[in-house]
Amino acid sequence: MQTKSKLLFIVAIMLLALTTATIINISLNFREYSIKGAEEKSKMTAAIVKDGLTAHMVNGMMDKREYFLHQISANNKEVKSLWLARSEHVIKQYGEGLNDETVRDEIDKKVLRTGETVKKIIETSNDITLRVTIPYKATVDGGGTNCLSCHNVKRGDTLGAISMEFDISDMRASGMLTILKILGINMLFLVVVLFLLNHYVTPYMKLFSNLQNGIKKAYSGDFTHKFETNVGGDAKSIVDQMNTLFSKMQETFGDIKYNLATFIPQGCVSSADPLYEAKTIINELSDVYKFKKTIELDASKNDVYTRIVDILRLKYHLKNFTLYEINNVTHERKLFFSTGDNALICQEKVNKNATECRAYRTKSVTISTEFPNLCQACLSEQQNYVCIPFTINNDVSLSIAATGESEEELEEITSHITSIKHYFEAAKPVIESQILMEKLKDTSLRDGMTGLYNRRFLEEFIDKLVQQANRSKETYSVMMLDVDFFKMVNDTYGHDVGDRVIVEIGKVLKSNIRGADLAIRYGGEEFVVMLHNPSDKGTQEVAQKIHDAFGALSFDVGTGETLKKTMSIGISKFPKDGDTIWKCIKFADTALYVAKTTGRNKIVNYEKEMGESGDLR
Ligand code: GH3
Ligand code: MG
Ligand code: MG
Repeated sequence: MQTKSKLLFIVAIMLLALTTATIINISLNFREYSIKGAEEKSKMTAAIVKDGLTAHMVNGMMDKREYFLHQISANNKEVKSLWLARSEHVIKQYGEGLNDETVRDEIDKKVLRTGETVKKIIETSNDITLRVTIPYKATVDGGGTNCLSCHNVKRGDTLGAISMEFDISDMRASGMLTILKILGINMLFLVVVLFLLNHYVTPYMKLFSNLQNGIKKAYSGDFTHKFETNVGGDAKSIVDQMNTLFSKMQETFGDIKYNLATFIPQGCVSSADPLYEAKTIINELSDVYKFKKTIELDASKNDVYTRIVDILRLKYHLKNFTLYEINNVTHERKLFFSTGDNALICQEKVNKNATECRAYRTKSVTISTEFPNLCQACLSEQQNYVCIPFTINNDVSLSIAATGESEEELEEITSHITSIKHYFEAAKPVIESQILMEKLKDTSLRDGMTGLYNRRFLEEFIDKLVQQANRSKETYSVMMLDVDFFKMVNDTYGHDVGDRVIVEIGKVLKSNIRGADLAIRYGGEEFVVMLHNPSDKGTQEVAQKIHDAFGALSFDVGTGETLKKTMSIGISKFPKDGDTIWKCIKFADTALYVAKTTGRNKIVNYEKEMGESGDLR
């Protein structure tokens, strides 16, 4: 039932209940008053009859009493009938009396016997009658009369009974009329109340249902609803406020959706509800962010792969799947993880030549339900599969092959593809850098004498490293170190001593830098040190430590003499001083040049005023 109809119904019921209660109350009271009135009349009539009969008796006119009794009922139309009943005492003394002086019924007998008044209401569908029978008792001085002077009775004996029947039908009729009037007035009142209520409530009800519709739409993320009302005052201001709120919400969610779409491509979350969509995207972003932060600290590429496997198992609940790593140069494919034999859905030849895999070759997701026998390299009995390829860099790709027991399960897996790719995207730079680190372990990139990286490393990898640094806003301090008057060592003590000095520099550098820092033998006795994400203070401290540690070394030159050497250091900062690492190396060299030309054995920071010496030795 609508709220308005409910309200009107309740009000109508309440008014009808009130009317009924009033009518019941009035009719009960009316009946009581009618009966009470008739009773009073019966008492008065009985008193008149008693006094009249006594007067007749005292005046010796008892033979005229019939006329008197007749007149009483004739003059009072409510008195339907009136009769007397003589007691045994009176009959014994004076005989049976007139016709209207005989016992008529059990009530007369009872009153004569008990001396008690009896009242009775006789109600039929047509009329209502009050029957009252009052005893007529012998008194000694009731109204100055001594009954005992004429009657052979004792005081208090019942001489007779006066019976009267009063017609109170008129009173009932007027009661009914009153009730009808009240009913009529109340009905009229009810109609007016319902009309007014309807008139004033309807606009509020309309507003209420309008609010309800708007809120229902908002619940499903649609804030375009326009609230309307023709009610003024508070209702109008609520409507205005709701409209302002909704348009703000619409605008805000539009912005949120637009901005989030830059993080997560469209289609990842398909919902008409921007609230739900925003929440899902933010959850997704937060999960991916946490994943990224975790894998950044992982020690190896395999650790990162293991974490991808965990995500597939624990977050996406994939039951049967494999993770492969593919060499993009040789197209060899290596199985990294498999949930079991029934996840191995590719023919053996794919491992030797991954281009046999449709997903890898086309670089697009391959879903078995798209076309029969879609991938020719798939084992024919396996029908429900989805293969997701992902290129990490020129050297490496990853591929997931997941199977489902039913098309529904496959559909469920397919619905996660976009999301799974977000994890791949997040893992991509980390895997790239792990691959790079693996390469950096290659001996051809290291200097045989010191074990430090060599110039080839710098030339091949520094750009990649710096690209990565730029992406993640990393910084480096670049130090260029050169032994002071080194030529003299060679000239004076021979190349062997010179070589020993160079080896010791390698040790000093290694023991003073952290894992993420790089030390490179740049030239003969020139070294480049790159400190990763350093503070200014940290850079100075490390430079000073290296400088001091080297200066503290004593070299046995074989003749009982010892040799001590110093070094000069030039420092620049990436990207503060130069936007490429090569520029920064050049600026560090400029600072080194300044150190050399201003006395050697010192640390000099690059400053713009130094210009570019271009004197890379
Ligand atoms: P400065 O203070 O200006 O640097 O003077 P320097 O004499 O050190 O001059 P420079 O740095 O130009 O000297 C480099 C010398 O290092 C030249 C070369 O003989 C020597 N050298 C280069 N590579 C090696 C090496 O592998 N072993 C040895 N023993 N000497 C090397
Ligand atoms: Mg030198
Ligand atoms: Mg030199």
